[in-house]
Amino acid sequence: MPTQDPTTGLRLDNQFAREVQGMSVRWQPEPAPAPRWLHFNDALALELGLDAQALRSDAGLAVFSGQRIPEGAEPVAQAYAGHQFGYYSPQLGDGRALLLGELVDAAGQRFDLALKGSGPTPFARNGDGKAAVGPVLREFLTGEAMHALGVPTTRVLAAVATGEAVRRERALPGAMLARVAASHLRVGSFEYAARADDAALLGRLAEHAIARHAPHLQGQPQRHLGLLEQVVERQASLIAQWMGLGFIHGVMNTDNMTISGQTIDYGPCAFMEHFDPEEVFSSIDRDGRYAWANQPAIAHWNLSRLAETLLPLLDDNADRAGELATTAIQRFETQLSTHWLALLRSKVGLPDGADVADRVATEFLHLLQRHEVDFTLGWRRLGDAAAGNEAPLRALFGKHAAALDDWLARWRAMFGATPGAERARAMAKVNPMVIPRNHLVELALEAAADYDDLDPFERLLDEVRRPFGPRDEDSPYIQPATREETAGYRTFCGT
Ligand code: AMP
Ligand code: MG
Repeated sequence: MPTQDPTTGLRLDNQFAREVQGMSVRWQPEPAPAPRWLHFNDALALELGLDAQALRSDAGLAVFSGQRIPEGAEPVAQAYAGHQFGYYSPQLGDGRALLLGELVDAAGQRFDLALKGSGPTPFARNGDGKAAVGPVLREFLTGEAMHALGVPTTRVLAAVATGEAVRRERALPGAMLARVAASHLRVGSFEYAARADDAALLGRLAEHAIARHAPHLQGQPQRHLGLLEQVVERQASLIAQWMGLGFIHGVMNTDNMTISGQTIDYGPCAFMEHFDPEEVFSSIDRDGRYAWANQPAIAHWNLSRLAETLLPLLDDNADRAGELATTAIQRFETQLSTHWLALLRSKVGLPDGADVADRVATEFLHLLQRHEVDFTLGWRRLGDAAAGNEAPLRALFGKHAAALDDWLARWRAMFGATPGAERARAMAKVNPMVIPRNHLVELALEAAADYDDLDPFERLLDEVRRPFGPRDEDSPYIQPATREETAGYRTFCGT
C-alpha cells in the first residue's frame, strides 16, 4: 500500500519504476519561482476519488508547481524512443516531464500522474524543460473537449503559471501542467526497449503493459500477441473517432501514440472547420504527412513499428513471429473501416442500415467536401433536417443548397418506420454542436497568456464540456470562424 501524502491526500505508487527498471531515471522537478493557479480540474479529481479541497490548497499548488514532492512519490523521467515524421530517434524520453507516480481509483484502476514543464531532465537535449501558458491551456481545453466528446484521452488535472518567462520566438509566461493518463506507455517505449542493450527489458516492459492494459491476458502463452491485437483494435477505434469529429492530431509520431488507446500530446492539433481531407494545422508538417485523411495510414504505419518490436516475444521461430505480427497488423484496416462506417451511419441517422447506408453517408461527406461546408455544423444541421427542419442545413450550403435535393430525397426514403424526430435525437448524441473552435481557443489562450485574463478560457472550457447540448442559434461558440480567421491557421508545436 503506497504512503499517503498528509497535506494533499495523494497516494502515489511507483509500479512502473519498480517493475520496468532500465527505462527511467530518478529525477526532481525544478520548483517554479512564483506559482499561481491557472485552473484545477474538479470534475477529474472527483472521478479519480481525490481530495479536491486538499489539492486546491497551497499544498496542492506546491505539488503542481514542482516545489514539493508528495510523500511516498519517487518522480522519474521515462525513457522512450520514436519515429518522428518517419525518422527514428533512439532516445527521446521525457525531456520536460516527470512521472510523479500512479494513482489507484476506487475501482482499482491505475492512472499515471505526471508533471509537464517541470524543468529539464537528462532527456532534455537542448530543450529548456519548460512549457508556456498557451500550450498548457490548449492541452487542458482539448483534453476536456475530447473527453466530453467520448474520445479516450489523457487529461489535465491542474495547470499553474510558474511566474517565470520561457524563451520561445518571444518571451512567454511559463506554466506547468499535471497530466492524468491510463499510462504513458507509447509505441516509442517499445521501440526503446527493443533496441536496448538489456535483452530482458522488452519482456519486463511487455509484462507491465499487459498488467496495466490487458490484465485478462496475464500468464497466457499468447499474451504478447493479445496485447498487440488490443492496441491495434483500440487505435482503430480511436482514429475513427478522431476522423468523425474532424480532429487532426498534428504529430502522430510513434512517441505520441499510446498503448492504452488514449489520445496524448495536444500540440499542433485542431478540429477542422470547413471539410477538407487534406487539412493540416501543424506549422512543421510541410508535406501533409499528418493531414486528416492520412491519419489511418499513419496509425497503421506506427502500429507496424510496434509489431516489429514485439517479434522476439511472439514466437521463437522468426518466420512464425512475422506471420503472427503481419496478421495482427493487417486487421487494422478492416477494423478502422468497420468503426468508421458504423460511425458515419450513426452520424447520418441510419445506424442499422447496410451497404446502402454506408454509401449514402459517404455521399454526404462528399457533399460537405465539395461545397466546403463546416464539418461540425454540417452533421448537426442534418439532424435538424431529420426532424423536419431543413432550413438550417440549406442555409449552411448557401448558394449550393440545391445540390442537396437529390441526396435528401434518397436519404429520407431510407427512414422506414422510425420517425425522423427519433432519428434526430439519436443524431444529436453523436454530432456535437460545440467543438473547441480554433479562433476561440486562440482568443482564450491569448487572453490568459498576454493579459492574465482567464475568463475566456473558463467560459470556453465550460462550453466544450457540454458539446452535444443544444445552443442558441446566435451562440458565438457554434459559429465557424470567418475565412479571414481560418486562412493560414497553424498551431505550433506546443513547446
Ligand atoms: P513532443 O513533440 O511534445 O511529443 O516532444 C518530443 C520530444 O521533445 C520529447 O522527448 C519531449 O520531452 C521533448 N521536448 C519537447 N519540448 C521540450 C522542451 N522545451 N525541453 C525539453 N524537452 C522537450
Ligand atoms: Mg510527445
